[in-house]
Amino acid sequence: MKGLICPRCDSNKVEKVADSPVRGKWEAYSCRACNYVWRSTEDLTNIDKRIEYWRQTAGREWAD
Ligand SMILES: [Zn+2]
Repeated sequence: MKGLICPRCDSNKVEKVADSPVRGKWEAYSCRACNYVWRSTEDLTNIDKRIEYWRQTAGREWAD
């Protein structure tokens, strides 16, 4: 998942969690930082960003 970032919090802790039943239609991703889940076909431009909040807390709460 190189280069993928969460559309909501901009974390790079993103992993693919599912494929579409019809291969190649879409993939589902999950952000391990904020638990947001989305599909690759979704319009992500209207995501309610949580950047400011998560940047304040992500460093210490979610560090590996
Ligand atoms: Zn996130």
